[in-house]
Amino acid sequence: GPNTRELLEKQREIDSSAVAYPEDIPIAFEAGKGATVRDADGNTYIDMFAGIGVLNVGHANPYVLDAVHEQADKLVHTVDFPTEARLELIEKLDEIAPGQLRGNNRVVFGGPTGSDAIEAAIKLAKYNTGGDGLIAFRGAYHGATSGAMSLTGNKGFKGHYTPLLSDVVHAPYPHPFGQDKTPEEAVDRALEEVRAILEDPYGGLANPAGIFVEPIQGEGGVITPPEGFLAGLREIADDNDVLLVFDEIQSGLGRSGQWWASEWYDVTPDAMTTAKALGGVGFPLSATMYHEDLDTWGPGDHAGTYRGHVVAMRAGTRAIEYIQDHDLLAHGRELGTSIRNRLRDVAMETDRIGEVRGKGLFIGAEFVDAEGSPDKETVKAIQRYCYERGVLVWKAGRHGNVLRLLPPLVLTEELAETAMDVIVEAIQQVTA
Ligand code: PMP
Repeated sequence: GPNTRELLEKQREIDSSAVAYPEDIPIAFEAGKGATVRDADGNTYIDMFAGIGVLNVGHANPYVLDAVHEQADKLVHTVDFPTEARLELIEKLDEIAPGQLRGNNRVVFGGPTGSDAIEAAIKLAKYNTGGDGLIAFRGAYHGATSGAMSLTGNKGFKGHYTPLLSDVVHAPYPHPFGQDKTPEEAVDRALEEVRAILEDPYGGLANPAGIFVEPIQGEGGVITPPEGFLAGLREIADDNDVLLVFDEIQSGLGRSGQWWASEWYDVTPDAMTTAKALGGVGFPLSATMYHEDLDTWGPGDHAGTYRGHVVAMRAGTRAIEYIQDHDLLAHGRELGTSIRNRLRDVAMETDRIGEVRGKGLFIGAEFVDAEGSPDKETVKAIQRYCYERGVLVWKAGRHGNVLRLLPPLVLTEELAETAMDVIVEAIQQVTA
């Protein structure tokens, strides 16, 4: 519509060229409610990407917003001074922390973005081990600051900004699809590589500090690692006295149908990062969670002005409560299974879907062309087709060929069905 066009043109004119301009889905947002958004011309869309997995309790969740308004009227910013909001969130995160972290969890708030949480985790690993070498994985995305970019396993994001942290080595993430490998072979290969980096005299890290890994890769293409991978990393980290750090920024806070994706694999990290959905209804807030045994640092060893945004913290606690009170983890597991089943049904009709993956409402479908090679254009066309019919979907993957769905956990069955009717039709039309 005209209002949308005008806003987009103006943005293109006055905003930074670094903005990833939404060519395929030219939308200007005006309002959001639950799992729907309205554009500047009054058109409504079902939001199947939720600000890249941020709005887990939906746009403008009233239970969260009530507390936000109340808190904003009282107090917004304090740095580290104690507030009820701060202590409440620390306690809440301990209550939902995974495995052996529960009851033993410490939190450091370092800044508003996921990248900030990664930087804090890098420092924590260095501080506790005295090392500086880090292992990360190909296809990983950990953020836009220098440390986080160093860990990111995608040259596209860092090509112009090297040198970054020097002692970072990337190992393969076990992604058996399209590699003529069984899941076991993919896991063995990844773990062998990690072990070699740490233990082989010809390995890559003289002074290792930590292993950073997404328990389910998000930007890399919603890759759910086969069983044994995270458990193997746990063992290797223990054998080598380095920290195992899970980046749950995209996969956490209910996205995968558990509080944390690591719970699907029954492996507890030493430390983990969370952001995105942590700010409740889209407030910027991140945290690094870690076992209290690692709380060896002292005052000022990690700093930042926004290490305690009171409104965001209130919103975060309320959002977690909302997920608990409405049993949204179970809801997300059920809805996610039915969405994947529908995608798998279409995959039976076409050879253009290579694989349907994910857990809970963290969903990916990998598209290939007639020769079986990654097919980015098809995903773009599906995204466009869906947009024109009122459904917003996203993409991911090293080749941009993974259709990614990250709907709010409050998505109702009815809305999910409507959205899936459109998505299925889009796939059928575009791949026909
Ligand atoms: N880690 C993961 C797994 C992510 O998905 C992201 C963001 N997509 C980040 C880190 C970085 O978070 P932010 O963009 O808030 O800095």
